[in-house]
Amino acid sequence: MELALGAGKLEIFLLVDDVDKAYQDFKEKGVKFVAEPKDQSWGARAATIVDSDGNMFIIESFKCKVCGKSCQSYLELVEHMKEHKGC
Ligand SMILES: [Zn+2]
Repeated sequence: MELALGAGKLEIFLLVDDVDKAYQDFKEKGVKFVAEPKDQSWGARAATIVDSDGNMFIIESFKCKVCGKSCQSYLELVEHMKEHKGC
């Protein structure tokens, strides 16, 4: 299968609590990943699935690396991280 990225296909972002756990769950169900869980430049940890139509599903989480709290957005994570940077 050839991947035509950005060729008018959908890119769907799915927020999950824990990308690594979701990755394991999906993998056990036989879902194919094109990118394994990785820290992204936009602050999320994300992995990418492509379905048979070429649509991309990006599962992502915004998890605090210090205490493990799952945030709903990058902004929330940034706000949360400030709590660890006190002093
Ligand atoms: Zn934290």
